[in-house]
Amino acid sequence: MWKSRWGGKPVGPLTGTSVKPSGIGRRWLGSLLLIVALGVLPACGSKKAVSVSEVKHRGKLVAGVKFDSKPFGFLDTDGQLKGYDIDLMRELSRRLLDKEKGVEFQQVLSSTRVIAINSGSVDAVAATMTITPERAKVVDFSIPYLTAHQAVVVPSDSPARHLKDLDGKTILFVLGTTSEGNIKKRLPGAKYTGFKSSTDAFSALKARRGDAMTTDDTIISGFLSDNCGFRVLDEKLSDEPYGLAFRKGGAETPDDLRVQVNQSLQAMEKDGTLARLKAKWVDGMLKGKPCKP
Ligand code: GLU
Repeated sequence: MWKSRWGGKPVGPLTGTSVKPSGIGRRWLGSLLLIVALGVLPACGSKKAVSVSEVKHRGKLVAGVKFDSKPFGFLDTDGQLKGYDIDLMRELSRRLLDKEKGVEFQQVLSSTRVIAINSGSVDAVAATMTITPERAKVVDFSIPYLTAHQAVVVPSDSPARHLKDLDGKTILFVLGTTSEGNIKKRLPGAKYTGFKSSTDAFSALKARRGDAMTTDDTIISGFLSDNCGFRVLDEKLSDEPYGLAFRKGGAETPDDLRVQVNQSLQAMEKDGTLARLKAKWVDGMLKGKPCKP
């Protein structure tokens, strides 16, 4: 067993995918979470954005992805890391480095995405990360590759039908997400409990430690694909355009990683690759599957 650098929880062993083991103490991570509760941390300064030539020379692209966010990055029952963001990084690697398997995946959480980039431990993050002006002060984003929407999930037997029904109730959220700010603006009278991952927040909802949980509809759909007894409120709180994140200070030359990723994303939009990835991982899940009564 080992702990992933920015994930905290022991995972693995994994097969068929390159994941770098390393150690980080839970206590250390706890303090870190306080610092990055908003999901932002200033860039370290000494670490530079990476170029495609550097990545080619090194022989692999290091990507920070979620390991617990179906359908974007998740450990499947066969122990393999799968999902939209995993396929996206493999496709980018194929286009930029001419080899699909040239990606090393490291686990990040919503609350550790920015520090994983700015510490230099990953070249890019592909982890359901919404492009926001606040985050754009500390990382550089690619063009958007998919748009999710913030939603709220409640147990099926909840009396709540609308957002306003949750005022005064306890709402569970994930630290370092846009979801926290959005929901607190909409429901200032609610009580809130933050968790370091969406899996922890959803587990707490299952254990009835809150009345509702909020995150992106795409991520909720992943939980509901494995769990009956929940429903999603119709109201959506926001658009959440996902982007890949990079260290600031890229050269913006034709060799810059972000520049080439943007070119590839544009090509993937045109040639239907992004639509195929969305159809493969996201569309079916968002429709939901019927649960037995
Ligand atoms: N996409 C939102 C964000 O970037 C919420 C879900 C997540 O944790 O990624 O904050």
